[in-house]
Amino acid sequence: MKKTLSKTFCIFPWMHLSSSTSGSLRPCCHCNHGKSFIKDEKGRVYRIYGEDLKKAWHSPVYRKIRQKLLNNEKPEECKYCFQKESAGLISPRQRANKHWMFEYQQSVTPPFKIRYLDIRLGNQCNLRCRMCDPYSSHQWIKEYKKMKQENSFVFPELNEFDGKMNMNWPEKMDFKKLFKNISHVEEIYFAGGEPLLIKKHYDLLDKLIDENYSSKIVLNYNTNITKLSDQILNYWKHFKLVKLSISIDGIQDLNNYIRYPSKWNLIEKNISKAESISKGETVNLEMNFTYTVQMYNILYTDEFLKWFKKRSYLPLQLSLSILNDPKFLNIKVLPKVLKKRVEEKLLPFKDEFPVLSLISYMNKEDWSQYLSLFFKYSDFLDRSRNQKMSKILPELESYRNHL
Ligand code: SF4
Repeated sequence: MKKTLSKTFCIFPWMHLSSSTSGSLRPCCHCNHGKSFIKDEKGRVYRIYGEDLKKAWHSPVYRKIRQKLLNNEKPEECKYCFQKESAGLISPRQRANKHWMFEYQQSVTPPFKIRYLDIRLGNQCNLRCRMCDPYSSHQWIKEYKKMKQENSFVFPELNEFDGKMNMNWPEKMDFKKLFKNISHVEEIYFAGGEPLLIKKHYDLLDKLIDENYSSKIVLNYNTNITKLSDQILNYWKHFKLVKLSISIDGIQDLNNYIRYPSKWNLIEKNISKAESISKGETVNLEMNFTYTVQMYNILYTDEFLKWFKKRSYLPLQLSLSILNDPKFLNIKVLPKVLKKRVEEKLLPFKDEFPVLSLISYMNKEDWSQYLSLFFKYSDFLDRSRNQKMSKILPELESYRNHL
């Protein structure tokens, strides 16, 4: 008898494992941040560097999530996906089902066969993007502490961060344990920190090459593209495919402002370098771009789309990813007048890019009560980084007087 698919089903908890920068395990990186770790009966979080990956896979927490996904229920951990769907956007769940669906067992204790692994080997990064945090970039720690002293309310969800969390665990990680569970892995996702900066990531590639796994494995990167060395080709040439997802949140000074302290010239140079690698014979490389839609760039997204089109990329190579948290950086915060302005700027792109769903998400709710917090946060970062919003975002800055 053909099984009917639960409307809330997600394939990830049947074939995927994700670890945060602190090594904590979770069903996937889209699960509620900091609140969805897989824990044992005593409340201890399972870690990617621990011995108990199989135990974690069959733990009560995981079983409960699977049961809900099989029962047409929405697990709390997966709130992000269902919120996106109710806003009319495609969710990671829907994308995962489309890409990875297989004849899974309708059981809450499926075989422990990881096909897709998301591994973040610490929070080492060379940037401190405005929408990032100390968990994802070690460059943020000092500034975050300063911000907390002055405005402790800003990141309530990060209040427990004390900078003492062990982020050096990858140094001691013994890949032997991980390799016991790697024989079914088809794809490995590296995000950060900045993976191309992290030494342990190269050690893992070495091990995959030495143990003859590389030709069967797809490497999937989320990178800020500021660290593309020539040596990387010596690693990548051994792998089945390399997917390079490049994070850019604006062009020129705007990208430098958001993704501080990146330099646009270097980014363009490295994008061209990646383009020539993808056209060459040595590495099987696919490029795509992730643009995080947020308060800092929504008014200038049309300029980014023009830049993107000029470089002759396909619309499919662009993922417009909406920033949910922190709330004061969410595009719903934009005042009504400026939302209208965004519509005028984006509508000409409606036939090529999913800008209509972006507009409808933005207009769904009015969160302008967070606007003063947005300016307060931005002023702090401007002071700390010696930057000026009035120079980079004049249209938004001028709205400060209407508050
Ligand atoms: S439903 Fe969404 S959040 Fe939950 S495991 Fe699937 S992709 Fe992740």
